[in-house]
Amino acid sequence: MIGCDCAVCTSADPRDNRLRSSILVESAKTTLVVDTGPDFRYQMLRQKVKKLDAVLFTHPHKDHLAGLDDIRAFNFFSKKPIDIYADSLTEEAVRRDFYYAFTDTKYPGIPELNLNTISTEPFVIGDIPVIPIQVWHLKMPVMGFRFGSFTYITDANRSLPTFLTRWDYMRKLNPNYRNISTWPGMD
Ligand SMILES: [Zn+2]
Ligand SMILES: [Zn+2]
Repeated sequence: MIGCDCAVCTSADPRDNRLRSSILVESAKTTLVVDTGPDFRYQMLRQKVKKLDAVLFTHPHKDHLAGLDDIRAFNFFSKKPIDIYADSLTEEAVRRDFYYAFTDTKYPGIPELNLNTISTEPFVIGDIPVIPIQVWHLKMPVMGFRFGSFTYITDANRSLPTFLTRWDYMRKLNPNYRNISTWPGMD
């Protein structure tokens, strides 16, 4: 933490040296990130990420949104907008915080965003199937995302009941629900 002299903040252990939370998920064809915090630019440079197809947002807090402007570099190289997947609450924050990307007269070099509103319905980005799972950060809904057998959940303090109910429900609809091979594009 800025200005803090405690044992953790002054530690030489790299595990005490963290950036804001974000993950990158990649298949042969598709690359996406979950959240673009203030460290997004540095994280992309550090990992030498050359291409990005989509950004998924978990919730509208600034430490998960603030770096979105830097997707401009990916727009520049791909010459197309980046698909953004967010629930309506987060979409509202994206429109507010990055208002200049949504005005009629745009100046050159602004981020080009293509907003997709999501709910808890599963969807597919390129060849990556995504299952949103809603959890709670006190009173704020937060989206967790399941990719195959991996689930990413951040900033949540209440998840289990919703999570289990949803899985039980989905498995009732389709007993093979956990089996990734049943998803389109996962052959
Ligand atoms: Zn400290
Ligand atoms: Zn948060």
